[in-house]
Amino acid sequence: MTAEFRIALAGNPNSGKTTLFNALTGSRQHVGNYPGVTVEKKEGVYRLENTKINIVDLPGTYSLTAYSEEEVVARDFLIFEKPQVIVNIIDAANLERNLYLTTQFFELGIPVVIALNMIDAARDRGIEIKEDRLAEYLGVPVVPIIARTGFGTQKLMEETVRQAAKKKEWNSKPISYGEDIDSTLLDLEEKITSGNFLTDTYPGRWIAIKYLENDQQIKERGRKENAALSALLEKKVEAVSLHLRETMETYPEAMVADHRYGYIKGILQKGVISHKYDKDRLYTSDRIDKVLTNRFLGPLFMGLVLFALYTFTFNYSELPVSWLESLFGYLAQTAEHMLPDGHLKSLIVSGIIDGVGGVLGFVPLIMFMFFGIAILEDSGYLARVAFMLDRIFRIFGLNGSSVMAYILSGGIAGGCAVPGVMATRTLRSPKERMATLLTAPFMNCGAKLPVLALFIGAFFSENKAQYMFFFTILSWMVALVLAKLLRVTVLRGESTPFVLELPPYRFPTLKGLFIHTWEKTWQYIKKAGTVILGISIIIWAMMTYPGLPAKDKEKFVQQRQEVEVAYPAANVAGKMAIPEEEAAERSRMLAAIDRAEAQMALRNSAAGRVGIALESVSFLAGFDWRTNIALIGGVAAKEVILSTLGTAYSLGGDNQKESGSLGKTLAADPGWNPVKGLSVLLFISYYAPCFVTVVCISREAGSWKWGAFSMIFNTIFAFLLATLVFQVGSLFC
Ligand code: GDP
Ligand code: MG
Repeated sequence: MTAEFRIALAGNPNSGKTTLFNALTGSRQHVGNYPGVTVEKKEGVYRLENTKINIVDLPGTYSLTAYSEEEVVARDFLIFEKPQVIVNIIDAANLERNLYLTTQFFELGIPVVIALNMIDAARDRGIEIKEDRLAEYLGVPVVPIIARTGFGTQKLMEETVRQAAKKKEWNSKPISYGEDIDSTLLDLEEKITSGNFLTDTYPGRWIAIKYLENDQQIKERGRKENAALSALLEKKVEAVSLHLRETMETYPEAMVADHRYGYIKGILQKGVISHKYDKDRLYTSDRIDKVLTNRFLGPLFMGLVLFALYTFTFNYSELPVSWLESLFGYLAQTAEHMLPDGHLKSLIVSGIIDGVGGVLGFVPLIMFMFFGIAILEDSGYLARVAFMLDRIFRIFGLNGSSVMAYILSGGIAGGCAVPGVMATRTLRSPKERMATLLTAPFMNCGAKLPVLALFIGAFFSENKAQYMFFFTILSWMVALVLAKLLRVTVLRGESTPFVLELPPYRFPTLKGLFIHTWEKTWQYIKKAGTVILGISIIIWAMMTYPGLPAKDKEKFVQQRQEVEVAYPAANVAGKMAIPEEEAAERSRMLAAIDRAEAQMALRNSAAGRVGIALESVSFLAGFDWRTNIALIGGVAAKEVILSTLGTAYSLGGDNQKESGSLGKTLAADPGWNPVKGLSVLLFISYYAPCFVTVVCISREAGSWKWGAFSMIFNTIFAFLLATLVFQVGSLFC
C-alpha cells in the first residue's frame, strides 16, 4: 500500500531551510514561481518506504502578517492549499525569535512538526536544548536535526508522516493577549462565526486576530464579503485601540506581538534551555562584533571588505568574460560569412548576436559578484553592514535593509538594479520598500560604468579616479535625497520599527554558496536573456527601417558610379599601372559615400526621426539628435548607449565598439565640449531605468503604474539636472 502526503516547509530566513530542502529532495525538485507573484516556489519529493511526501518550500519569513509578499504567499498557501502538516524549521541558537513564527502557525491551527536545526552550532555556543520539554510545553513533536550533515532528517520525516497520517482537523490554539484583547477577540469571533464571515476559508479566531492587527489583505477581503459586518468589526477594533492607547499607551498590534513573545518566554523559562557556559561570557560572535561594528574600526573594515569584493569580482571575471566575448565574436563572424548580405544577416548579427551576447557576456561577472556577496551573506557580515548604515539611512526615510539593495544595484561600482530591486523584498514596510526600489536604479550599474568611463575619459581625463569616486558618492546622495522626497510626498507614512537581526557569524559551506550563487545567476540569465533578445530586435529594426527612399538610394548609386568612372577599377587590379595614391583615393571616396548613405539612412530611420524631433526640447540640455537616439536605446539597456553612439557617429567597422576611439571622436568633435559631456553623463546616470529594471519594478511593486512612474519621474529629474548644468556651465565656458 502506498500513501501520499503534502507537507510545507516553513521557517525564518537563515534557519537552514534551503539546506534541509536540498538534503531531503536531492535532485528531485521543481522550481517555479507562485502564480501571479515573483516569489520563488520550490517543490520536491521525499520517499519514505512506501510513502511519497511532496514538500513545498515556503518563502522564509519572520511572521505571517501582510507586510511583505513572502508573508502573504506563505499564509495564502497554507490556507488555500491546506498541506497536511507544516514542518517548521527553527534555528536552535535563536529559539526565541524563531518561535515567534511558530505561534502564528498555532493561531492558524495547522498541525506542526518542529525541526530543531543547527543543534551543532548551538552546542558550540554552549546552548543545550531539552527537546522533550520543549515538545511537551508547545504540544507538538520536536525533532533535533543538523540539516547540514543530514543528521536526524530521516527521523524528522518519520515523525511528519506519523502526524500526517492522523489527518487531524485544523485547530486554533488560543494564546492569551491580555484581558482587553481577549474579550474583544471573543466578541469579534462570535460575530464572525454567526455571520459566517469568511469562515469557509479562514478560522474565525484567526480572522478576528487579523482585524485586530489591522491586516489590510484580510480587511479588504472582508469588505468585499460583507461590508456592513466588516465595518462593525472595524468599529470594535477602533474602540479597543482607543482604550489601549488611553490606558496603556499602546495599540493592538504591539499588544498581540508582546503576548506572543510573552508566551514564548514563559515556555523557555521552564528549563528548556541550559547554558553550559557562564551567562556573561561573550560568545565568539559578540566578540567579533566588538571590533567589526566598532564605531571607528567598523566602517574602515567595511570599506576594505567592499573594496576586496569588487576587486575580486572585476579581476577574476575578466578572463571568463573575455572568453564569452570571443565566443560571441566568433559566432558573429561565422554568421557574417555564412549568410548572404541583407536584412536577415543584419538582424542576426547586429540585432540578435550582439544584443544578447552583450548581456550574456556579463554572466561571469554577475556570477562572481553573487558568489562574493553570498560569502558576505552566508557568513552573516552583510547584516553588519546594514546595521552600521542604518542610522544614516533613517534620516532619509529608509532603513538598514535598503543598504543592500543599493549595493547590489551598483552602489560601490558595477552591479545591477534587477537583483537590487529584488533585494528590497527583505524590507517589511511597503512604503520604505517602494522608496528603496524606486531609488536603487540611481546607482552606477555594470552597464552604466563603461558609459561613465567613456565620458570621463573623453572630457576629464586628468583625474579619472577622483571623478569616478565623485560620481559614485553623488549617486548615493541623489538616491537618498530623492528617497526622502518620495517619503515626504507620494510615499508618506510611518517607518516601521526595524529590528535588525544580527545572526551569529558562520563559516559558509561551499555547497550553500554555490546553490545561492546559481539561484541568483539563473534568474538573471532567464529574465535578462529573454527580454534583451526582444529589445535588441526592436532597436535594430528602429535604426534600420524604413531605410532610404528609392530616389536617394539612386543618388548614392550615381555618386559611386562617378567615382568608378574617375578611377576605373581596372587600375586597382593593376592591369594598368596607376599611382597607388589614386587607388587609395578611390576606396576612401567610396567609403565616404557608404558613410554618408548610412548617416542619411539613420536620419531617415524611425529612431532617427524621433531623435531629430526630440532635438526641439533636448537642445536645452545640449543633446543633439544622435545623442538622443543613443539615449532612447539606453532605455532598452544601458549597454546600448555605447554601441548606438558608435553607430550614430558612423565610426564604421571594427573600432565602432572600442570606447577609446569613440571617446577620442567625441573629444575632437566640435559639437562636443566638457560641459555637454558632463550634462550627458549626469543624464545617463539618473534617467529612466533600463527596460528589464522597469519590468522588475512593476512586478515587485505589483503595478505597471510604478514602473511608468519611475521612467517619467527619473527622466524629468535627470533632464532638469542636465539642463541646469548645461545652461549654467555654458555661461562660464
Ligand atoms: P535559509 O535562508 O533558511 O534557506 O538558510 P540556508 O539553508 O541558506 O542556511 C543558512 C546558513 O546556515 C548556511 O550557511 C548553512 O550552511 C548553515 N546551516 C544550515 N543548516 C545548518 C546546520 O545544521 N548546522 C550548521 N552549523 N549550519 C547550518
Ligand atoms: Mg535559502
